Amino acid sequence: MQLLTKSAEDTRELAGTMAGLAEPGDVVLLVGDLGSGKTTFAQGFGWGLGVREPITSPTFILVRSYRGRLALLHADVYRLDHLQEIVDLGLPELLDEGGVALIEWGDVAAPVLAPEFLEVRLEHANGDERSIALRPVGRRWSARWPSIELSLERWRSRSPLPGEAGA
Ligand code: ADP
Ligand code: MG
Repeated sequence: MQLLTKSAEDTRELAGTMAGLAEPGDVVLLVGDLGSGKTTFAQGFGWGLGVREPITSPTFILVRSYRGRLALLHADVYRLDHLQEIVDLGLPELLDEGGVALIEWGDVAAPVLAPEFLEVRLEHANGDERSIALRPVGRRWSARWPSIELSLERWRSRSPLPGEAGA
């Protein structure tokens, strides 16, 4: 699914809407260049989960956890050797216990951290616009697709971006 946001606040609103559909044990991988909006997305997602403390970039901390409707783990895998640390820091246990994980730089992490996940790929578009592509991997996300499409309708981009097959 191809989406477009017009500002940082717009991306937070979209992410907050998605958080309403989050279920215990979910993994969301945030992929995109520096400044594409991964942490901004995490802030909106946390707000939507009911986290009321500020969500900051985990870049130098690797992993931070928050309390909301569900426990939220926010991690940044910007080096491959962080993967093991994140696992050691309790990612599997948190998911088992019904928490939700948001992992920045998900590309690297995807095959190792979880077999099923939602990939959120953010890219700079014009000015403050960001193009956001959602890709479900595994059944747990595909099963929710109709409700996700419905709730994100207002961000759907109608015209495919150059080089893309469709939206
Ligand atoms: P990342 O974690 O991917 O490095 P950040 O979320 O930390 O990116 O930074 C994104 C920056 O871009 C922020 O300064 C944010 O305010 C700005 N921004 C501008 N427009 C948008 C948008 N549409 N979506 C997300 N961030 C945006
Ligand atoms: Mg970041």
